[in-house]
Amino acid sequence: MQIDNASEAGQLYVVATPIGNLADFSFRAVEILQQADLIAAEDTRHARLLLQHYGISTQVISLHQHNEEKQAPSLIEKIKNGATVALISDAGTPLLSDPGMPLVKLAREQGVKVSPVPGSCALIAALSVSGLPVIPFSFEGFPPRSTSARKRFFAAREKVAWTWVFYESSHRIQASLDDMLAVLSPERECVIARELTKLHETIIKGPLSSISQQVDNNPNMRKGEFVVIVAGAEAVDEESEQTQQDDEALLAVLLSECSVKTAATLAAKITGHRKKNLYQLALQMTEGK
Ligand code: SAM
Repeated sequence: MQIDNASEAGQLYVVATPIGNLADFSFRAVEILQQADLIAAEDTRHARLLLQHYGISTQVISLHQHNEEKQAPSLIEKIKNGATVALISDAGTPLLSDPGMPLVKLAREQGVKVSPVPGSCALIAALSVSGLPVIPFSFEGFPPRSTSARKRFFAAREKVAWTWVFYESSHRIQASLDDMLAVLSPERECVIARELTKLHETIIKGPLSSISQQVDNNPNMRKGEFVVIVAGAEAVDEESEQTQQDDEALLAVLLSECSVKTAATLAAKITGHRKKNLYQLALQMTEGK
């Protein structure tokens, strides 16, 4: 089997597939999947939808998190014997919160050539439209599933100076935001990128408290797939200083006309910031007088 280069028979391709919109698939990816001897897919039924769409009839075998350690050696043997194998996952780039690590690691250890066929990746797509600093950034995968472990996960990242990114499912997006609110400042700037490249794509950006409120208030905002991007601690310091100045300026106007309680309520409605924090700030401002 020959792809790209006559001397490269027998190699592994790691092929990115679309994260929603089927048109986000490169000509080269289609060509490689068509010409490969074998496609190792995370879920063979899921893969067939994509493969049928592109008229690809290559044999597909399953390679998922529960069998990849076992399958990897025999696939490497096949490649050594001249087969070209293409690795795909259900969506996006394999290995990024997806199967593939044991196979690629073994290929490298055994001197088998591995080439990427780059394409969609939800975290990169989300970062590219976040408007938050992208250099440096860290990718944190999925947070733990239990509340206590999740809170520790977020608390451990509180002081991280750079932008950090994690994946979340519809089942846990609200719980994750609640846990973030419990351990991070409500002013921490965040972006939620939901259903990227799909019909209901939604990207919202703002202070954590406002983002959490928007997700809480709208059941549709809890449906689908999510990338959450959190501004680093340094950016927060600067931004929260500016936000506090803005809140103070607004409260100063409101306090000249109404009570602390009403001023805090109105300011919360206008800014989307937490009423409790605005009430404290308004109290401090009036106490100083
Ligand atoms: N390997 C994939 C990639 O390159 O992005 C990610 C696979 S991981 C199992 C699936 C998670 O990626 C979802 O739970 C969600 O957090 C994120 N994701 C995948 N597709 C997405 C999309 N279209 N919009 C937003 N997030 C998405």
